[in-house]
Amino acid sequence: MLTEAISVSRRWLEVAASFLYPEICQSCEIESATASQGYVCEKCRATVEFIKPPYCQRCGAPFAGEITSPFICGLCRHSELYFSHARGVVPFEGVVRDTLLKYKYNRALWIEPFFAELVQNHAGPRLRDEGWDLIVPVPLHPRKRAEREFNQAERLGRHLSRAAGVPMEKRALRRILPTRTQTRLSASERAENVRKAFAFKGDPARIQDRRIVLFDDVLTTGATASACARVLLQAGAREVCAWTLARGLLH
Ligand SMILES: [Zn+2]
Ligand SMILES: [Zn+2]
Repeated sequence: MLTEAISVSRRWLEVAASFLYPEICQSCEIESATASQGYVCEKCRATVEFIKPPYCQRCGAPFAGEITSPFICGLCRHSELYFSHARGVVPFEGVVRDTLLKYKYNRALWIEPFFAELVQNHAGPRLRDEGWDLIVPVPLHPRKRAEREFNQAERLGRHLSRAAGVPMEKRALRRILPTRTQTRLSASERAENVRKAFAFKGDPARIQDRRIVLFDDVLTTGATASACARVLLQAGAREVCAWTLARGLLH
């Protein structure tokens, strides 16, 4: 009954939205796409590739070549990372990159169903099988959050939480320093930039001896995820892994 009411009201919302936003793909701006597709058409969806082995066991960076035995990449061998491993659903490129930037910087929340689907179908089942205790989204600095009006890690983390059956703890971490944008920084500069940016603000009893999935929209060098993992481990977590929708690659 309730589900029916929700689906009816969702259809009404879609009808209402189609007046506001023409049903055109947000990526190619040519093909048609619906609200439930997050306005990303079938053709653009078909270009999305998924991250598959071989990838670094630690940071999940995909490796273009044939490696059949498990390996750790050069970057991970030379840096101190606090998460046990990091995994991403798709590379941060093409359609995913274009639409994710629109979603975050132009508040294009109507694209969210597209990302939700990727996270739910590809990260959800794996996390469910691995038996994690909590999902903690990477926080934004309060000033940035106020500017953007939402935290993408929290919004997408909620979809993952439902799909994986793992509760979300959104108040565990706080970003205490506004950090410079990381795009132009090298790996070591990024690590330094975020080292003291996070603090534990939750109830320590909630994370004591727990296995935690740290969640963010994009991971590039892993500096942010590692800084967050360090804070959670210091506060008593047993293990912290990192999952992201997209995986940025340093070129
Ligand atoms: Zn398209
Ligand atoms: Zn690595």
